[in-house]
Amino acid sequence: GTHCELRGATRVYPGSAGRPALHALGPIDLELEAGRFYAVVGPSGCGKSTLLELLAGLASPSEGEVFINGQPIEGNVADGVGVVFQDDASFPWLTVWDNIAFGLRQKGVSENIISEKVKGATKLMGLTGFESAYPAQLSGGMRQRVCIARTLMMEPKLILLDEPFGALDQQTRLLMGDELLNLWRETGATVLLITHALDEAAMLADVVCVMSARPGVLLDVVETGWPRD
Ligand code: ADP
Ligand code: ADP
Repeated sequence: GTHCELRGATRVYPGSAGRPALHALGPIDLELEAGRFYAVVGPSGCGKSTLLELLAGLASPSEGEVFINGQPIEGNVADGVGVVFQDDASFPWLTVWDNIAFGLRQKGVSENIISEKVKGATKLMGLTGFESAYPAQLSGGMRQRVCIARTLMMEPKLILLDEPFGALDQQTRLLMGDELLNLWRETGATVLLITHALDEAAMLADVVCVMSARPGVLLDVVETGWPRD
């Protein structure tokens, strides 16, 4: 079934201090089906991040509507949505373990349960043995895995990733792509990956959404036809 949907969604940044208003996105009509892996590609500035912000509830559409599980998003990160950004967003003053545990501790989940889940997430993301390390002691790829593990801990049904491998070297990017695929298979989550790398989109995604230059509209939605079982 449909997991989330954009209906005629646009995003316009109002002008200020002599700058004109900027039409950043849309109108976009897009339906994401539950459990599929989507990639969004398009030139820099076409509105990919803006699209993700709308789905995450980090920004509201200027016109149109955004739905998750049939409910309109009310301008905050919806339950069950996890976001991973390009920039390393780990907390440098916390260990890998504490970074990954952070979200559940905020929610007041008991340490026993957190411990089990952190173990699971570190294993899945290949971080076992590095629990006591600090982010500065890790490679960029490992730090990015910490960020993904931290998002996974919240058991999101919808995982939104904005250029998560953009800062990584080619080899690490390929490895991380494989890990993302494994993760998708294991969790059954709906995944939406924003990338400017066409090869990454074509190799990983079930469905590739192609956007035009600003203001971004969908040019095409292409099924890659990968057998996934
Ligand atoms: P992409 O992710 O495809 O590079 P973005 O969604 O980041 O594109 O940006 C789309 C357009 O909106 C760009 O022209 C960008 O400069 C503009 N934009 C993004 N955020 C803001 C903002 N906070 N204020 C004004 N313009 C913005
Ligand atoms: P805190 O005093 O912050 O509650 P703990 O006493 O639980 O921390 O653990 C101290 C440090 O040991 C943590 O910061 C974490 O990095 C690490 N740690 C905790 N549990 C584990 C574990 N099961 N495996 C590996 N490292 C752990």
